[in-house]
Amino acid sequence: MQISKNTVVSIHYRLSDEHGEIENSHNASPMAYLHGQNNILPSLEKALEGKTKGEQLSITLAPEDAYGLRNPQSQQRVPIKHLVTKGKLTPGKAVKVNTQQGVINATVVKVGKFNVDLDTNHPLAGKQLTFNIEIVDVRGASEEELSHGHAHGVGGHAH
Ligand code: ZN
Repeated sequence: MQISKNTVVSIHYRLSDEHGEIENSHNASPMAYLHGQNNILPSLEKALEGKTKGEQLSITLAPEDAYGLRNPQSQQRVPIKHLVTKGKLTPGKAVKVNTQQGVINATVVKVGKFNVDLDTNHPLAGKQLTFNIEIVDVRGASEEELSHGHAHGVGGHAH
């Protein structure tokens, strides 16, 4: 079966930037996603389109095709009490913060007594990323998966 819109694709992947490996799925279950529903980066979907089980591919994405360029304006000072993440704060730590737009991910830049300076760029923004992907399985999606817009089962949504 070829990867096309509304197939459920299971993949193992290795994600790296120019400095080395960032993430690796091989010590857990493969990740399952519903193809053609914007569950993964559009540029990755495009590269996977038409491939079949057992195929491997390596794709390198410029920041613009991955998580975007870093925005130097994306720093803000927020009261520490607005952080969802509790515990000791140190520069570089990934935290979750309550904002008017809901809970977002950010990285600590500087810690003060009552406030913290956060960088709200995506942690992978500005990076050129290489994905080494192994296609573990391709199957048709169930009615339920199509109505939810994501994959269920091993490596998919559990709910
Ligand atoms: Zn669901």
